[in-house]
Amino acid sequence: MLELNGVETFYGTIQALFGMSLRCERGQVTTLLGRNGMGKTTTVGSIIGTLQSRSGEIRFNGEVISGRPAYEVAQLGIGLVPEGRQIFPNLSVRENLVATAANYSNGDDPWTLDKVLDFFPMLRERLNNQGALLSGGEQQMLAIGRALMLNPRLLILDEATEGLAPMVRQEIWRRLEQLKRSGLTILLIDKNINEFTHIADQHFIVEKGRVVWHGNSDALSGNAELKARYLGI
Ligand code: ATP
Repeated sequence: MLELNGVETFYGTIQALFGMSLRCERGQVTTLLGRNGMGKTTTVGSIIGTLQSRSGEIRFNGEVISGRPAYEVAQLGIGLVPEGRQIFPNLSVRENLVATAANYSNGDDPWTLDKVLDFFPMLRERLNNQGALLSGGEQQMLAIGRALMLNPRLLILDEATEGLAPMVRQEIWRRLEQLKRSGLTILLIDKNINEFTHIADQHFIVEKGRVVWHGNSDALSGNAELKARYLGI
């Protein structure tokens, strides 16, 4: 569904991606792993069009999306749960969910406000609360719910469980597992690797702006040296 080939992205004169290549297969959970500052968020920005890569190619459903503006990439069906959640603090939960809603995947059973509230019942209880008044976990559910309201074909989550309590993280893994079962394709960036290998299919490890290893969950779980060397665990 998504393919990056030799992507190079810069911040001014500073190069952050050095030939990034990866693939996300339809219906699978793919992860992008690596220590801080290795280029994961830059990869996400390059995919969604908030950063323009200088060379290489990014394809989504066979169509070249590198070089296209972020709003067009979103309309093609790539939804993002951004690092730091970035919900609208002064809008209510309801407003956060409906503000950007769309049916970009043209599915016949799209996500609606009611469906998202059934999926995250705690959001229904907070429907008229301002985003800023939610707990970290509730804000994260809201950020995921908001991305689902775009009805994406590919959902990207950048550090969705950062700073959350273990029980809340477990809740998020359960929801992502449900989304995977529903057929959604997911690209996951997260540090709590041991908690999600069971729902993930393929992993790509990034070091200094390029992929240094990729393989499935069994290959990753069984390779302690790899995890120690590139992930520090
Ligand atoms: P983290 O988990 O800390 O977010 P990351 O793997 O997502 O790390 P990136 O944020 O993509 O890494 O950063 C990749 C490289 O690009 C780093 O060397 C970083 O210092 C650099 N970088 C990121 N943002 C900028 C920026 N706005 N200006 C200049 N350099 C940047």
